[in-house]
Amino acid sequence: MFIKVLGSAAGGGFPQWNCNCANCSGLRNGTLQAQARTQSSIIVSDNGEDWVLCNASPDISQQIAHTPELIKKGVLRGTAIGSIILTDSQIDHTTGLLSLREGCPHQVWCTPEVHADLTSGFPIFTMLQHWNGGLQHHALTPLEPFRVDVCGDLQFTAIPILSNAPPYSPYRDRPLPGHNVALFIENTANRQTLLYAPGLGEPDAVIMPWLQKADCLLIDGTVWQDDELLATGVGKNPAKP
Ligand SMILES: [Zn+2]
Repeated sequence: MFIKVLGSAAGGGFPQWNCNCANCSGLRNGTLQAQARTQSSIIVSDNGEDWVLCNASPDISQQIAHTPELIKKGVLRGTAIGSIILTDSQIDHTTGLLSLREGCPHQVWCTPEVHADLTSGFPIFTMLQHWNGGLQHHALTPLEPFRVDVCGDLQFTAIPILSNAPPYSPYRDRPLPGHNVALFIENTANRQTLLYAPGLGEPDAVIMPWLQKADCLLIDGTVWQDDELLATGVGKNPAKP
Protein backbone atom coordinates (compact mmCIF):
# COMPACT_ATOMS: atom_id res chain seq x y z
CA MET A 1 0.00 0.00 0.00
CA PHE A 2 1.22 3.47 -0.83
CA ILE A 3 0.48 6.12 1.81
CA LYS A 4 1.44 9.76 1.63
CA VAL A 5 0.70 12.25 4.40
CA LEU A 6 -0.30 15.52 2.75
CA GLY A 7 -0.74 17.33 6.05
CA SER A 8 -0.60 16.48 9.75
CA ALA A 9 -1.59 19.66 11.62
CA ALA A 10 -4.84 20.38 13.42
CA GLY A 11 -7.28 23.02 12.18
CA GLY A 12 -5.44 26.23 11.35
CA GLY A 13 -2.16 24.49 10.52
CA PHE A 14 1.20 25.14 12.14
CA PRO A 15 2.10 27.88 12.61
CA GLN A 16 -1.49 29.02 12.86
CA TRP A 17 -1.95 32.31 11.00
CA ASN A 18 -3.32 34.26 13.99
CA CYS A 19 -1.33 32.61 16.77
CA ASN A 20 1.63 33.89 18.75
CA CYS A 21 1.90 31.01 21.20
CA ALA A 22 5.39 29.81 22.09
CA ASN A 23 5.36 27.17 19.36
CA CYS A 24 3.96 29.30 16.52
CA SER A 25 6.10 32.35 17.26
CA GLY A 26 9.14 30.16 17.94
CA LEU A 27 8.85 28.59 14.51
CA ARG A 28 8.44 31.99 12.84
CA ASN A 29 11.46 33.58 14.49
CA GLY A 30 13.65 30.51 14.18
CA THR A 31 14.13 29.82 17.90
CA LEU A 32 12.12 26.58 17.74
CA GLN A 33 13.44 23.58 15.84
CA ALA A 34 10.21 22.36 14.26
CA GLN A 35 8.58 21.82 10.90
CA ALA A 36 5.67 23.84 9.52
CA ARG A 37 2.65 21.63 8.87
CA THR A 38 -0.45 21.90 6.75
CA GLN A 39 -3.85 20.63 7.88
CA SER A 40 -4.52 16.91 8.07
CA SER A 41 -5.09 14.83 4.96
CA ILE A 42 -3.60 11.71 3.38
CA ILE A 43 -3.62 9.94 0.03
CA VAL A 44 -3.50 6.16 -0.37
CA SER A 45 -3.00 3.94 -3.39
CA ASP A 46 -2.49 0.33 -4.40
CA ASN A 47 -0.42 1.12 -7.50
CA GLY A 48 1.27 4.48 -6.89
CA GLU A 49 -0.52 6.05 -9.86
CA ASP A 50 -4.18 6.32 -8.91
CA TRP A 51 -4.89 7.82 -5.52
CA VAL A 52 -7.71 8.05 -3.00
CA LEU A 53 -7.81 11.35 -1.14
CA CYS A 54 -8.87 10.98 2.50
CA ASN A 55 -10.26 14.36 3.52
CA ALA A 56 -9.77 17.64 1.63
CA SER A 57 -8.11 20.26 3.81
CA PRO A 58 -8.14 24.03 3.28
CA ASP A 59 -4.44 23.67 2.37
CA ILE A 60 -5.05 21.28 -0.52
CA SER A 61 -3.71 23.55 -3.26
CA GLN A 62 -0.40 23.91 -1.40
CA GLN A 63 -0.37 20.17 -0.66
CA ILE A 64 -0.93 19.22 -4.31
CA ALA A 65 1.81 21.63 -5.35
CA HIS A 66 4.23 19.59 -3.22
CA THR A 67 2.90 16.17 -4.33
CA PRO A 68 3.99 15.36 -7.89
CA GLU A 69 2.17 12.01 -7.66
CA LEU A 70 -1.12 13.89 -7.97
CA ILE A 71 -0.27 15.54 -11.29
CA LYS A 72 -1.78 13.30 -13.94
CA LYS A 73 0.63 12.65 -16.74
CA GLY A 74 -0.26 12.50 -20.43
CA VAL A 75 -3.35 14.67 -20.31
CA LEU A 76 -3.85 18.37 -20.85
CA ARG A 77 -5.90 18.62 -17.67
CA GLY A 78 -6.64 15.99 -15.07
CA THR A 79 -5.80 14.69 -11.63
CA ALA A 80 -4.56 11.46 -10.15
CA ILE A 81 -7.15 11.86 -7.38
CA GLY A 82 -9.57 9.14 -8.45
CA SER A 83 -11.85 9.14 -5.42
CA ILE A 84 -12.35 11.11 -2.22
CA ILE A 85 -13.43 9.81 1.20
CA LEU A 86 -14.52 12.14 4.00
CA THR A 87 -14.25 11.00 7.62
CA ASP A 88 -16.42 13.84 8.93
CA SER A 89 -17.93 17.18 7.89
CA GLN A 90 -15.43 19.42 9.68
CA ILE A 91 -14.31 22.59 7.86
CA ASP A 92 -10.72 21.35 8.21
CA HIS A 93 -11.53 18.20 6.24
CA THR A 94 -13.94 19.47 3.57
CA THR A 95 -13.12 23.05 2.55
CA GLY A 96 -10.49 21.80 0.10
CA LEU A 97 -13.29 20.43 -2.05
CA LEU A 98 -14.01 24.03 -3.10
CA SER A 99 -10.47 24.30 -4.45
CA LEU A 100 -10.94 21.12 -6.49
CA ARG A 101 -13.97 22.48 -8.36
CA GLU A 102 -12.12 22.83 -11.67
CA GLY A 103 -11.76 19.04 -11.72
CA CYS A 104 -15.43 18.17 -11.12
CA PRO A 105 -17.10 15.78 -11.17
CA HIS A 106 -15.43 14.07 -8.19
CA GLN A 107 -16.52 10.79 -6.63
CA VAL A 108 -17.02 11.41 -2.90
CA TRP A 109 -17.74 8.77 -0.27
CA CYS A 110 -19.14 9.79 3.13
CA THR A 111 -21.83 8.76 5.61
CA PRO A 112 -25.41 10.04 5.28
CA GLU A 113 -24.82 12.18 8.41
CA VAL A 114 -21.80 13.90 6.87
CA HIS A 115 -23.67 14.34 3.58
CA ALA A 116 -26.58 15.94 5.48
CA ASP A 117 -24.24 18.52 7.07
CA LEU A 118 -22.64 19.19 3.68
CA THR A 119 -25.99 19.83 2.00
CA SER A 120 -27.42 22.07 4.77
CA GLY A 121 -25.23 23.98 7.24
CA PHE A 122 -22.22 23.92 4.90
CA PRO A 123 -23.87 23.05 1.57
CA ILE A 124 -20.76 22.28 -0.44
CA PHE A 125 -22.43 19.40 -2.33
CA THR A 126 -25.25 21.74 -3.32
CA MET A 127 -22.97 24.61 -4.37
CA LEU A 128 -20.65 22.50 -6.48
CA GLN A 129 -23.50 21.02 -8.52
CA HIS A 130 -22.94 24.03 -10.74
CA TRP A 131 -19.41 22.88 -11.64
CA ASN A 132 -19.60 20.12 -14.23
CA GLY A 133 -21.57 17.65 -12.14
CA GLY A 134 -20.00 18.66 -8.86
CA LEU A 135 -19.52 16.05 -6.15
CA GLN A 136 -21.03 12.63 -6.84
CA HIS A 137 -22.08 11.28 -3.46
CA HIS A 138 -21.61 7.63 -2.58
CA ALA A 139 -23.09 6.72 0.79
CA LEU A 140 -20.93 4.63 3.05
CA THR A 141 -22.27 2.67 6.00
CA PRO A 142 -20.13 2.29 9.12
CA LEU A 143 -18.65 -1.19 9.56
CA GLU A 144 -19.65 -2.26 6.02
CA PRO A 145 -16.53 -2.72 3.84
CA PHE A 146 -16.60 -0.80 0.55
CA ARG A 147 -14.39 -0.09 -2.45
CA VAL A 148 -14.10 3.06 -4.52
CA ASP A 149 -13.73 3.70 -8.28
CA VAL A 150 -9.93 3.41 -8.34
CA CYS A 151 -7.44 1.25 -6.45
CA GLY A 152 -9.48 -1.96 -6.65
CA ASP A 153 -7.17 -3.79 -4.24
CA LEU A 154 -8.02 -1.39 -1.42
CA GLN A 155 -10.94 -2.24 0.83
CA PHE A 156 -12.18 0.48 3.17
CA THR A 157 -14.18 0.11 6.37
CA ALA A 158 -15.50 3.16 8.24
CA ILE A 159 -15.37 2.75 12.02
CA PRO A 160 -17.49 5.09 14.19
CA ILE A 161 -15.32 7.00 16.68
CA LEU A 162 -16.00 9.17 19.71
CA SER A 163 -15.79 12.81 18.67
CA ASN A 164 -18.12 15.74 18.07
CA ALA A 165 -20.07 17.15 15.13
CA PRO A 166 -18.84 20.49 13.70
CA PRO A 167 -19.84 23.74 15.41
CA TYR A 168 -22.21 24.56 12.52
CA SER A 169 -24.00 21.18 12.67
CA PRO A 170 -27.41 20.81 14.35
CA TYR A 171 -25.83 17.70 15.92
CA ARG A 172 -23.11 19.63 17.76
CA ASP A 173 -22.66 18.04 21.21
CA ARG A 174 -25.07 15.22 20.33
CA PRO A 175 -23.36 13.50 17.37
CA LEU A 176 -24.63 10.32 15.76
CA PRO A 177 -22.19 7.45 15.07
CA GLY A 178 -21.96 8.48 11.41
CA HIS A 179 -20.69 11.98 12.15
CA ASN A 180 -17.12 10.80 12.81
CA VAL A 181 -15.46 7.72 11.43
CA ALA A 182 -11.98 6.32 11.18
CA LEU A 183 -10.91 4.45 8.05
CA PHE A 184 -9.54 0.92 8.23
CA ILE A 185 -7.88 0.33 4.87
CA GLU A 186 -6.75 -3.11 3.73
CA ASN A 187 -4.81 -3.97 0.60
CA THR A 188 -6.52 -7.27 -0.13
CA ALA A 189 -3.67 -8.28 -2.47
CA ASN A 190 -1.08 -8.43 0.30
CA ARG A 191 -3.10 -7.95 3.53
CA GLN A 192 -1.31 -4.73 4.51
CA THR A 193 -3.53 -2.56 6.69
CA LEU A 194 -3.75 1.05 7.79
CA LEU A 195 -5.98 2.74 10.35
CA TYR A 196 -6.50 6.45 9.69
CA ALA A 197 -8.27 8.28 12.53
CA PRO A 198 -7.60 12.03 12.29
CA GLY A 199 -10.63 12.95 14.41
CA LEU A 200 -10.32 10.45 17.25
CA GLY A 201 -11.49 12.03 20.51
CA GLU A 202 -10.63 9.02 22.65
CA PRO A 203 -10.44 5.27 22.00
CA ASP A 204 -13.40 3.13 22.97
CA ALA A 205 -14.37 -0.54 22.76
CA VAL A 206 -15.48 -0.15 19.12
CA ILE A 207 -12.20 1.21 17.76
CA MET A 208 -9.78 -0.76 19.98
CA PRO A 209 -9.85 -4.07 18.02
CA TRP A 210 -9.20 -2.13 14.79
CA LEU A 211 -6.32 -0.23 16.40
CA GLN A 212 -4.81 -3.50 17.57
CA LYS A 213 -4.89 -5.29 14.22
CA ALA A 214 -3.69 -2.48 11.93
CA ASP A 215 -0.11 -2.62 10.60
CA CYS A 216 0.11 1.17 10.58
CA LEU A 217 -1.73 3.77 12.68
CA LEU A 218 -2.26 7.42 11.76
CA ILE A 219 -4.04 8.85 14.80
CA ASP A 220 -5.22 12.25 15.98
CA GLY A 221 -2.48 13.79 18.09
CA THR A 222 -3.68 17.37 18.32
CA VAL A 223 -2.84 17.77 22.00
CA TRP A 224 -0.82 16.05 24.72
CA GLN A 225 -3.13 16.92 27.64
CA ASP A 226 -6.90 17.32 27.87
CA ASP A 227 -6.60 20.88 29.29
CA GLU A 228 -3.82 21.98 26.97
CA LEU A 229 -5.74 24.75 25.17
CA LEU A 230 -6.86 26.23 28.50
CA ALA A 231 -3.40 25.88 30.12
CA THR A 232 -1.66 27.67 27.25
CA GLY A 233 -4.31 30.37 27.11
CA VAL A 234 -5.30 29.86 23.46
CA GLY A 235 -8.72 28.25 23.93
CA LYS A 236 -11.42 27.20 26.34
CA ASN A 237 -12.41 23.73 25.14
CA PRO A 238 -11.06 20.49 26.55
CA ALA A 239 -9.53 18.04 24.09
CA LYS A 240 -12.00 15.26 24.84
CA PRO A 241 -15.40 15.38 23.10
ZN1 LIG B 1 0.16 28.61 18.20
